[in-house]
Amino acid sequence: MTTLRTAAQLCEHGYVPSNLQQAIEKVTARYAVALPKPLADLIDRNDPDDPIARQFIPDTAELDHKPEELSDPIGDGAYSPVEGIVHRYPDRVLLKLTHICAVYCRFCFRREMVGPDKPAGLSRAALAAALDYIGSHPQIWEVILTGGDPLILSSRRLRAVMKSLAAIDHVKVVRIHTRMPVAEPDRVTADLVRAIKIKGKPTYVAVHVNHPRELTAQAREACARLADAGIPLLSQTVLLAGVNDTAGVMDGLMRALVECRIKPYYLHHGDLAPGTGHLRTDIAAGQELMRRLRGRASGLCQPTYVLDIPGGHGKSPIGPSYVTRCGSNGTQAVVEDFNGGQHRYPVR
Ligand code: SF4
Repeated sequence: MTTLRTAAQLCEHGYVPSNLQQAIEKVTARYAVALPKPLADLIDRNDPDDPIARQFIPDTAELDHKPEELSDPIGDGAYSPVEGIVHRYPDRVLLKLTHICAVYCRFCFRREMVGPDKPAGLSRAALAAALDYIGSHPQIWEVILTGGDPLILSSRRLRAVMKSLAAIDHVKVVRIHTRMPVAEPDRVTADLVRAIKIKGKPTYVAVHVNHPRELTAQAREACARLADAGIPLLSQTVLLAGVNDTAGVMDGLMRALVECRIKPYYLHHGDLAPGTGHLRTDIAAGQELMRRLRGRASGLCQPTYVLDIPGGHGKSPIGPSYVTRCGSNGTQAVVEDFNGGQHRYPVR
């Protein structure tokens, strides 16, 4: 087995009961599926609530679309001046090189745009136009390669893109968003690591990990190849019901990331992607989880809990807040400590 892509294959290998094959085919006809062996091997087929299966095995609940869900939940389209570019914030752009991923997450915020039935990647002409756009906007300080998964591309292709970005003086930082170190760690080869480094400009890699079990020995080695090459590593985690929405799992995940030299960066509240309601938590539960994490884990283990505002209005940190005002004219602050104790502090 390499990568499972159909309902029949998932049934044959025991990841979906055969009596559900037809129902699951309705989901796979709508949304892409890919389950590579390194992640498939982590699934306990006897556990109906397995947190790895919950992320990657299609579920009939995905056909339940809620009125508030959106095909483009974070509003990429509204901020795309040329194909492949999203320019939402003045100093940075997304450069979407491909719509292909090694694994398709059931909660993906770009699930309507990714998959093998979508264009494989930017054409040569579209890439040239995207690079021209970056080159002609001197306020662009950072380019974020995203997708799809940019590390699905060959080292040769990545090297060419990185060289083009290196040649643009005002681009000082390149960031790559990827799930590859956990999805297919063997693809993070020494050659690929060399390809994504730019002389004189830092490449940051943000690794998407949602459960501590994803950080297998092979995944840790892949992360170590990046870190040993001097590439700073950050994490992105999506808060998912039944996957990582307990303090114990989140604490374990954040500690494991730090042990792998990955600085926890963002904890994303689940986006309003179609058919993902069964995986979203409510904001209050996310805030309470963050509060508990603050009370039990090192400052190194604290991500920022963020929400992408629909319509393309960007990310906002959504707390929790530890400061409130009190006093007749608000001259006192009340600051909460990590045990929940409250303390007055002068506003200035
Ligand atoms: S790896 Fe990222 S882009 Fe690909 S399916 Fe998962 S969340 Fe979506």
